[in-house]
Amino acid sequence: MSFPATRLRRLRRTDTLRALVRETSLSLDDVVMPLFACPGESVVRPVAGLPGIAQRSVDEIVREAHELTAAGVRAVLLFGIPDSKDADGSGAWDDDGIVQRALRALRAEAPGLTLLTDVCLCEYTEHGHCGTLDGDSVANDETLESLVRTAVSHVEAGADAVCPSDMMDGRVGAIRSALPEVPIVSYAVKYASAFYGPFREVAESAPSFGDRRGYQMDPANAREALQECALDLEEGADVLMVKPALPYLDVIRAVRERFDSPVWAYQVSGEYAMVRAAADAGHLEEHRAALEALTAIKRAGAGTIVTYWAKDLARWL
Ligand SMILES: [Zn+2]
Repeated sequence: MSFPATRLRRLRRTDTLRALVRETSLSLDDVVMPLFACPGESVVRPVAGLPGIAQRSVDEIVREAHELTAAGVRAVLLFGIPDSKDADGSGAWDDDGIVQRALRALRAEAPGLTLLTDVCLCEYTEHGHCGTLDGDSVANDETLESLVRTAVSHVEAGADAVCPSDMMDGRVGAIRSALPEVPIVSYAVKYASAFYGPFREVAESAPSFGDRRGYQMDPANAREALQECALDLEEGADVLMVKPALPYLDVIRAVRERFDSPVWAYQVSGEYAMVRAAADAGHLEEHRAALEALTAIKRAGAGTIVTYWAKDLARWL
């Protein structure tokens, strides 16, 4: 039926009518807050490119965890900024490493919080690449062993799930063999994106030479994303993550339609920073733009979103 019998505006008339027919909703159950652990005590070091986000020492991470829990956020994704770096990134699997210390403290002091860890080496290597180098490129198979050691040490320190983000071939299978019972949230589809800029500042992980196009995906490719997902599932991944989110809604949708596993998206630092910068300049309203972007990512098919707005969302919802 068409106009005048059909009038779609009828259900847009009031807040309640709109809510009754809303197809997509956001919930604090579906967000994960990234946290950055750094050495020291009472350290809260803001990051210029990511207003509201900071590197925090372990005691401050615990304090922030309490605030997140009180606000209703139930899961965090931990990154570490180590004291020192080396060629192989051995700080990543150090029992007394920064993420391991943060995990033990959070496990003890914030027992209600679900602890996910980013498993990669770029924050721990002096060259900033995601694994051990062979000449100018990252050696895939040598790096797998380091990733496994890192994932195992995170779990021993209290991680509930590990999230390999390095994009080496075969890393999910390698971690799965070592950790048969731990959920693996695979950054299955991670593009070599310009939108990671502010993150590299907060995680101090910018490559000292070259870029990550030799292992992260080409932004032009969507079918290859489905191949990555299929391989990761075969290797034992429990969750497929797409990163970044907003520039890749078509990919999120394609992954959602092809696979039955949970699909997550990482709304990356650049997506957050763009909105914050435009809001700070008075060009748009932060909370409306953030909610619209998050809703779009869910509408595209992501069940859960890693987002720097997780804490704000608690206030907005
Ligand atoms: Zn990395």
